[in-house]
Amino acid sequence: MKATWEAVVNIRDAAASARTETISENAQWFEDNSPIDPRFKKKTVKGISAKVIDATTLGGDCYPSTPIGINLPNADWIRKEHGSKSVTIANITHAYNLSAEEAPKSTTSEFAWDEQEIAMIKKYSAYTDELHTDLHECLGHGSGQLLAGVSSNALGEYSSALEEARADLFALYYMGDPKMVELKLLPDAEAYKAQYLTYIRNGMQVQFARVEQGRPNTEAHMQNRKLISEWCYEKGLADNVIEKKERDGKTYFVVNDYEKLRGLFGELLAEIQRIKSEGDYAAGKALIEKYAIHIDPVLHKEVRERYASLGIRPYGGFVNPEIIPVIENGEVTDYRIEYPDDFLGQMLEYGEKYGVL
Ligand SMILES: [Zn+2]
Repeated sequence: MKATWEAVVNIRDAAASARTETISENAQWFEDNSPIDPRFKKKTVKGISAKVIDATTLGGDCYPSTPIGINLPNADWIRKEHGSKSVTIANITHAYNLSAEEAPKSTTSEFAWDEQEIAMIKKYSAYTDELHTDLHECLGHGSGQLLAGVSSNALGEYSSALEEARADLFALYYMGDPKMVELKLLPDAEAYKAQYLTYIRNGMQVQFARVEQGRPNTEAHMQNRKLISEWCYEKGLADNVIEKKERDGKTYFVVNDYEKLRGLFGELLAEIQRIKSEGDYAAGKALIEKYAIHIDPVLHKEVRERYASLGIRPYGGFVNPEIIPVIENGEVTDYRIEYPDDFLGQMLEYGEKYGVL
């Protein structure tokens, strides 16, 4: 038998928690207005508890590479009867965004079509990314219900990717809803576009920088993003909703019609909710196999080369800050925070100090 553990020492993020409280307070409105078949909606959404924390120390499997949210329980029947709890780790997402912005070359500068896109992403995307995660964790996973008699294991090996897609689509659909501005969750009616743009670009190409050339796309979150992006690209072709462009031998994906894209997110959400609620294994399998797995080898090679030229790594990790007590006259009066940058050194020090075996 094999086991792992994860641990996060954290403090509550008061400002960000206020945002997820607003989302949770309105959970029933979101459920009632979602674009899915009424039979699959929860009559009463209960138990959605949202909390935003800042991690101060990561341990076990969270260190050095950490999740950005914790969302439990996994079992659908427990969620339905007792509700669920979501925790978002805000300072981790924030650090990812800031370090990406500070880099001389970024995926934004490489994969954005023009200056207007770059300006929009710089203005909104650090925030819209966080809001997307909140909606995904607080509402997306908790929304909808299975029809009586349908097993929560009905979708088998496709269930993780489809479940992530369902939560992402719920978030994406609502990002573009006027309710977001009304609830002051978004500053204006333009902000959501930054999220749509970066989501599609990531799902269509940027994320494949993480996949070895010649390998299929197998990780659940990455399959989900590819599924959503490719499906919307194909369904929107006639209206040119998402356009594949080329310049200097490089491929770009540009969103031309945000309203229609929102409509497509809603349509796919309705279908994936139907698949889950009815336990339609064959339809789930067909979606994943058609849209989520196969990466076009020519595009894959191009993405990997462009990503490599940026000199950034596809995954990030964190070295823990050292929190050092300031002692005066034998009493702790304050704490000083130091930010070491030597991961190996920190690991060895932990081993020496805390190794008990
Ligand atoms: Zn999720």
